[in-house]
Amino acid sequence: MRILKRRTHHHHVEHRLSFERVGAGGGYSFLCNEAGHLDEANLPPAARDNYRACLAGLALVRSVVESVHDYTEHAVGACEVCGREVVLYGFTNACDCGADYNASGQLLAPRECWGEETGESLADILGVDAARPVDSLE
Ligand SMILES: [Zn+2]
Repeated sequence: MRILKRRTHHHHVEHRLSFERVGAGGGYSFLCNEAGHLDEANLPPAARDNYRACLAGLALVRSVVESVHDYTEHAVGACEVCGREVVLYGFTNACDCGADYNASGQLLAPRECWGEETGESLADILGVDAARPVDSLE
């Protein structure tokens, strides 16, 4: 399979200046840098109004909250049989034409050749979580 897009891992850290409304519940948060500074001029008008209201005392508890986001974008390859794009997200990745690929994009033997002698469990073959009860699968 020709790989069209490699698997990429992303690590994104974001900081928000957070204001909580004491006793009233809820609050506001605004993207900022690690030190809690933000570029007020680049805020949309409604956000700028809210930010200024927070600074004026609408919300009193102020903190910088860090959020870390880690995620993976799966690789995509071109099917050797039909040319369609196949997302390589799991142990077995099926193309709409019926061809199957492993997570590295290698074409697998036809399904009628699959079995326990190859070390695959039924869950592996079906691409399901074996720990989940069958009736919860949709
Ligand atoms: Zn295909």
